[in-house]
Amino acid sequence: MNETDAAQAGTVLYGKAPLDILRWAYQTFGDRVTIASSFGVEDVVLIDLATRVYPRPDVFFLDTDLLFHQTYQTMQDVTRRYPIAMRRIRAGLSLAQQAQQYGEALWERDPDQCCFLRKVSSLNRALDGYEAWITGMRREQSATRAHIGVVEWDEKRQLVKINPLALMTTGALWEWVRLNHVPYNPLHDQGFPSIGCMPCTRAVAAGEDARAGRWSGFSKKECGLHE
Ligand code: SF4
Repeated sequence: MNETDAAQAGTVLYGKAPLDILRWAYQTFGDRVTIASSFGVEDVVLIDLATRVYPRPDVFFLDTDLLFHQTYQTMQDVTRRYPIAMRRIRAGLSLAQQAQQYGEALWERDPDQCCFLRKVSSLNRALDGYEAWITGMRREQSATRAHIGVVEWDEKRQLVKINPLALMTTGALWEWVRLNHVPYNPLHDQGFPSIGCMPCTRAVAAGEDARAGRWSGFSKKECGLHE
């Protein structure tokens, strides 16, 4: 599939239910598509849906070694509950090696470099050999995601990128969680709509953008995985 095919698929699938988009993804790519999960609520809903249309979908998780213990617990809950093939991708450098080469607490001085070392380079390894990847991104999450498509062409990686939840509202998402008893990260109940690494995530106040708690104090809005 190329850029034109991806754009056409995006037009055809726009407005379709997430389950229908996932069915198309697995019919088209089978084992050559993988789900990116950081075990936020969107990702777990995505896994819940994917396991309804495909046996043992492939899921990868970028472990930066800096995640909340609640995130690791959610990963365990999800892998126990759902039949998925889980790949835990570690950063190429340990935290000690990173501190030695780039100095202590790189995230406080240069979060772009830190995200590159601990996330983006891991993503490139995680996607090696795949033709498409699926994300839990939604338009409502932030201004930077307000125009994402249902199916897109990932120019940087020359892959198809599928966002089945792009049009799903926050209300519909949580309704699915409640109705289907989907396990989720308890931090979501403590003011964390978006959960990343511990040093770069804070709770948000009422009325703030859902991703306002990420890299607070920096102009940075995305970790580089979706740019
Ligand atoms: S979110 Fe923060 S700690 Fe995690 S990789 Fe990016 S800069 Fe580093």
